Amino acid sequence: MTACGGQPNGPASGTTGEYDAMIGKTIAYAGFRAHALYEKSGIPAELGSLERSQWLDPEAIAELQNRRLRALLDHIKRHNPHYGRFWAEHGADPDTVRTTADLVKLPVLTREHIQHHWRDMISSSPPENEIILDHTGGSSGKPLRFAMDRRRYFSRMASAYRHDRWSGWDFGVRTAYIWGHPAAFRVQPSWRTRLRRRLFEPYIGLDSSNITVESMLGFHATLTRYRPRVLVAYANSIYMFARFLQERRLPPLPPLAGIITSAEVLGDEKRRVIEACFGAPVFDRYGSRETSVIASECEARQGMHVCSEHLVVEIQKGGAPAQPGEYGHFLVTDLSNLGLPLIRYRNEDLGLPVQGACPCGRGLARIGMAAGRQTDFLVTPEGQLISGVALATYLTGHAPGIVQAQIVQEVPQELVLRLVAGEGYGPRTEEFFAQQIPKFVSDRMTWRIELVERIDPLPSGKHAYCISKVDPASVF
Ligand SMILES: [Zn+2]
Repeated sequence: MTACGGQPNGPASGTTGEYDAMIGKTIAYAGFRAHALYEKSGIPAELGSLERSQWLDPEAIAELQNRRLRALLDHIKRHNPHYGRFWAEHGADPDTVRTTADLVKLPVLTREHIQHHWRDMISSSPPENEIILDHTGGSSGKPLRFAMDRRRYFSRMASAYRHDRWSGWDFGVRTAYIWGHPAAFRVQPSWRTRLRRRLFEPYIGLDSSNITVESMLGFHATLTRYRPRVLVAYANSIYMFARFLQERRLPPLPPLAGIITSAEVLGDEKRRVIEACFGAPVFDRYGSRETSVIASECEARQGMHVCSEHLVVEIQKGGAPAQPGEYGHFLVTDLSNLGLPLIRYRNEDLGLPVQGACPCGRGLARIGMAAGRQTDFLVTPEGQLISGVALATYLTGHAPGIVQAQIVQEVPQELVLRLVAGEGYGPRTEEFFAQQIPKFVSDRMTWRIELVERIDPLPSGKHAYCISKVDPASVF
């Protein structure tokens, strides 16, 4: 692969460099283990267990899930009266749920339900001082409060470490985050945890909530100086940064082992641009604050492996499991959060099931990469879902004179193209739309252009390429 600026990236490191890196990882991990012992987090044991269980065959993983599910339901029966009432109201009997296939017997848990009842949903055991409260940022407009027990807090971290390792990350490996508002970095609750990260998981954070030419020149200078081996970024932010580097033909960045993209829909076009620019593979990730890393790509990059030891992800369409190639709603069950159990939680994201075995040999279930927020999808009058992000990305990349684009859909029949016009914008741009847009959308849809000065990112720092107010569930 060649990097931005047309220069090929040099080899990642020589033999001495590899040896130094290995020693660095070993020392950092030894330090991390010692700290974990002090903190009594149990992370090293959990991480070791996850490193082994990922290679189990699907049947053995299903057995592990079923065991954990039964233990969770037993815990709920003894310590969580809210679920007892909720299920009874829906005429569901948890005693008949013995395997993950039986989950369909239980009602779906909506965001609204958690928003109204989160306090009541906290179990009476573990004790209150072991319950960690958290909330989502509310990029979809509705913040959500939830909680987890201390043990789950640490097992989530172990899960993230395992998935990060698939991308070339490890303890002691320098990582740069191109992420949202600096507030998003404040996810660690204690100074001890922050100190641990500084010592054993060295990283820098680059604020992507306000991307300008100056800030991107700053990113380039910082990354050149810091020499990270792994980048973690919002898909759209790193895509924009890659395009910027290409346009400016800036010197290539020091070689990367991998790039983890998350929080936004990636898509093939963006992946191609990012990989060509940075000369490193992209590993897409799907996570949520409520349930941590849900799934991510392995080196085969043929769908995302679910963190199946702790999570069951059902994909539901019209009340039944979605078929391969079909979009459906995610229903996530967290098998290990005893503090505030989430059973069949509909998190309002959409995805596809992926069948068959992964060439990597891991037995973890896989889901499709098109997972994204509901609002990313345009809904046609015929009831088809179209990736609005892909369309906006395509228009921005190809139409003459477009600096930024955002597609807004209020009703199924009409799209509003909010555009920031640049040099070269004119009749040729509109001609381009007339030719290209019908290739993406239904011929029963019209569009109109709204020229704007700027398109602000969301409060979370994410760039909203597409805002559809038409509920895709109307399709199901
Ligand atoms: Zn795999």
